[in-house]
Amino acid sequence: MSGPIQYDTSRPGIARIVLDRADTRNAQDTAFLYALNEAFDRAAHDDEIKAIVLSANGPHFSSGHDLREVDGHGNMRKHETVGTWGGFGKPGAEAQYAREQEIYTGFCERWRNIPKPTMALVHGKVIAGGLMLVWPLDLVIASEDAAFLDHTVSMGVGGAEFFAHPWELGVRKAKEFLFTADWLSAAEAHRLGMVNHVVPRAELESFGLAMADRIAQKPLFALRLTKQAINAAQDAQGRLSAMQTSFALHHLAHAHNMLAHGSLVDPTGVMAAVKKGPKAAE
Ligand code: ZN
Repeated sequence: MSGPIQYDTSRPGIARIVLDRADTRNAQDTAFLYALNEAFDRAAHDDEIKAIVLSANGPHFSSGHDLREVDGHGNMRKHETVGTWGGFGKPGAEAQYAREQEIYTGFCERWRNIPKPTMALVHGKVIAGGLMLVWPLDLVIASEDAAFLDHTVSMGVGGAEFFAHPWELGVRKAKEFLFTADWLSAAEAHRLGMVNHVVPRAELESFGLAMADRIAQKPLFALRLTKQAINAAQDAQGRLSAMQTSFALHHLAHAHNMLAHGSLVDPTGVMAAVKKGPKAAE
């Protein structure tokens, strides 16, 4: 596989997927997300694979959605959609709603529900949509330098589309995280239970792969059933229903910004967010 996503199965039982758009800090445009989804599907459908490990090349894990993409809606038509939403060329709020159902919440739910253990090895900065490549996965190993940020409130939107914040951080910390747009360190993310382990940067890969090796020695069907059982427990708490509400509110914000500012996000907030820290613009 070439392009923005690398795929490797040289380690027995393990599929390694690597974000490889380092020049943009792994910013996610339409082609990037479809390539990533294809890699996850490939690993899911390969019966020899028992664990899927996602990592990133470059200085940062992901800078989020690629706001510089030109004609994102038109680019949707270059791909075979995996969901049942269409209307990517429709006027008003419809096209954006359809696009985000497909490549944001749609993909994240698919990846969250892959019936095999998945693991993210995270280093550097993870910004807004970048969290959506971390939270859907089962296990998160972060290096000491990893840091997390969701600055969407600054841009007039109440959180990234895959609104797992309350489950990942706890209700009170999720509010602080979003209200302030302050950085969350790897150590704090670990304390909150968002991250399984924090390790030195040089040991991130070896630590994660050693754990994946141990997982890959287990029977696949038992791994599948265990994951399904734990995900069901979380869904019994109302996760999916709450996230569907959050997503509708997210689109109310997009529609409001379009009416008030002529763009999906508040442009003054975007400038302020970029100015606030060079890290956010990296
Ligand atoms: Zn959005």
